[in-house]
Amino acid sequence: MIQARHIRVSGLVQGVGFRPFVWRLAKELDLAGWVRNDAAGVEIAVEGEADQLDALLRRLEGEAPAPARIDRVQAETVPAVGSCDFVIAESGAGKMATAIGHDTGLCGDCLRELFDPAGRRWRHAFITCTHCGPRYTLSRRLPYDRANTSLADFALCLDCANEYENPADRRFHAEPICCPQCGPQLQYLAADGEAQAGDPISNALAVLRAGGIVAIKGLGGFHLACDARNADAVAELRRRKNREEKPFAVMAANVASLAGYAVVDAEAATCLSATERPIVLLPKRKLELPGIAPGLQWLGALLPATPIQWLLLHEAAGRPAGTAWLDEPQDLLLVMTSANPGGEPLVIDNAEALQRLAGIADGYLLHDRAIVARCDDSVLRQSASGPAFIRRARGYTPTPIKLATSGPSVLALGAGLKNTVCFTRGDEAFVSAHIGDLDNATTVAFLDETVHHLQHILQVKPRVIACDLHPDFPSTRLAQALAEEWQMPLVPVQHHHAHIAAVAAEHGVVTPLLGLALDGIGHGSDGTAWGGELLRVDGAQYQRLGHLAPLQLPGGDRAAREPWRMAAAALHACGRGEEIPQRFAHQAAAATVEKMLVSGFNAPATSSAGRLFDAAAGLLGLRDVAAYEGQAAMLLEGLATTAGPVAPLADGWKLSNDGQLDLRPLLLSLMDEKEPAVGAARFHATLAAALAAWTLAAARREDLDTVALGGGCFLNQLLLDDLRQHLTVAGLTVLEAARVPPGDGGISLGQAWVALHTEC
Ligand code: ZN
Ligand code: ZN
Ligand code: FE
Repeated sequence: MIQARHIRVSGLVQGVGFRPFVWRLAKELDLAGWVRNDAAGVEIAVEGEADQLDALLRRLEGEAPAPARIDRVQAETVPAVGSCDFVIAESGAGKMATAIGHDTGLCGDCLRELFDPAGRRWRHAFITCTHCGPRYTLSRRLPYDRANTSLADFALCLDCANEYENPADRRFHAEPICCPQCGPQLQYLAADGEAQAGDPISNALAVLRAGGIVAIKGLGGFHLACDARNADAVAELRRRKNREEKPFAVMAANVASLAGYAVVDAEAATCLSATERPIVLLPKRKLELPGIAPGLQWLGALLPATPIQWLLLHEAAGRPAGTAWLDEPQDLLLVMTSANPGGEPLVIDNAEALQRLAGIADGYLLHDRAIVARCDDSVLRQSASGPAFIRRARGYTPTPIKLATSGPSVLALGAGLKNTVCFTRGDEAFVSAHIGDLDNATTVAFLDETVHHLQHILQVKPRVIACDLHPDFPSTRLAQALAEEWQMPLVPVQHHHAHIAAVAAEHGVVTPLLGLALDGIGHGSDGTAWGGELLRVDGAQYQRLGHLAPLQLPGGDRAAREPWRMAAAALHACGRGEEIPQRFAHQAAAATVEKMLVSGFNAPATSSAGRLFDAAAGLLGLRDVAAYEGQAAMLLEGLATTAGPVAPLADGWKLSNDGQLDLRPLLLSLMDEKEPAVGAARFHATLAAALAAWTLAAARREDLDTVALGGGCFLNQLLLDDLRQHLTVAGLTVLEAARVPPGDGGISLGQAWVALHTEC
């Protein structure tokens, strides 16, 4: 008997080939009716045999195309109307895309076509289909339509138009499709900007093979590339980029090509091969790529995402036909580092590349398809509880994070470093791509640009603005200006409250919970510098239950960049300040620092956990001055892993009645440690045990059984894994940042969540 169903599918189901997927399913199952986009997602009216209808519902969820994300399928039985064909219908009110998708790496079908010499897209650098390719980075505005993307200037040729119109084709309504006849063109320019004759891919590869540095246009910005196995090329790139020690990411054709240099387990391989194509941190093997990640135990690696990246590797493999070579180890490994000279935003424009990368690049591999939205590479790391973000951008932006509650739209502007912004719309939170450190005018301008671009593509009008409590952050000043201009309430949120709120938000927790925030420095409600905080968080309210016993910051901000100063502060705090001038005799300021600590002048106190790591690194002689933020802590973690398991120091800490955790006994033990690796391992083990004891005591007192871990120090996997172990064994539920970074890259989400819970 013929039955009929009316079905609504919501989620990310527009611009991902969902309608043709439904069309093919219906045809295969011999069903009649129609499918169309509507404001809420996709609407389907279908009729046929009951078991075929059931099969359709089952396969809708089970076989949806990769970029789609189904949040909900609702089906109801309705009277059959006697349709005899299945069609893709026009949308009720024209085209009403509700969201722009995220960028993804090339799909398997496109990859096969790319390397099929008989196909019309053999070696076509802009190959894409409904299931893959750029979305967010080339969209100017809603609706998601070719005319609103950077493909607008490229008219479809007849062959491409036929594919675009044909529901049976995988390029049906794929907005950015093109072919060698009608699409953008690749070009290779020499260092002087002169266009070079010959094949652009082979030109670029020749320069890379010869040890040169090539600027390559990617999805969300330019990369600077060089041969990762050529130590001279890597050193030269560091010299030209003025980036002496920060780690570089390395791109390989496949997991097999990385095998000699990094440990890639099954989870890491899944992460690397995901359609989002993030950079994944992998444990290094003994065999080092010289100069790639000096002193660290991790190697950041990624697999190709764009056809251009694939074509370079294909060229290096000798242009084989077919895809068999994709599974074989390839010799070419490329450094792929963001082209963002001076820590400013990523270069996205061709003319800008020639100007800003002059003196750095020996050549430019570029094209005339514009990058609309700047979007850095995302960086993930594995931990015992699954993958976690270090940086969230390409591949994940603008995918929303579902919130437990709905409310008026909020715009949250983040903090100061590694900044992001966040818009909420209903019960969805849209965290922007990584913006960067707001320490230069161009990045601050990019912050402003990001706010406007996101607002544009989300079609949302905020009603409340949230920012950090710190009065001097450029993000706070922008928040104040916008709140004034738009005449809406401004909600300043304490930095560590926001860190914990971000974790609560992504886990949908609305009941009170404990929060352990281990961080660099954030502005406290008492005006001092916080950063090692035990909080009770209840929606928009929080209570500071305790904090790390403070250390002084001799020289203020300088102390954050110079771990030896924090080591001096530790010596002073332990009553051994008179050793400072002699221990740090090589530092011209050693005597001055001792005086600062004694007098307290220009040496404010901080409860920062990040500075505690610096102090430990300084005491163990790892590093006097950090080359980049977080370096001392990363080196300390790296060193600790080489020592193997070390027991926590008995009596390494003291818990005081006023909620302070005092780690001076641990610091004292490091002052006379002869083996830095053992000291580093003991520091981690003792800190984890101390934090666990501190948290458990508070959990009992407050009668809470859930703790959220937030703040940049939780990028430290050794500490995180150890602490989680202690807490879960003791029966606490541990919540961690998984959908946004634990550090300041996730703070805008927490600010938005607090503002959502604030009565305005
Ligand atoms: Zn594809
Ligand atoms: Zn074409
Ligand atoms: Fe922070």
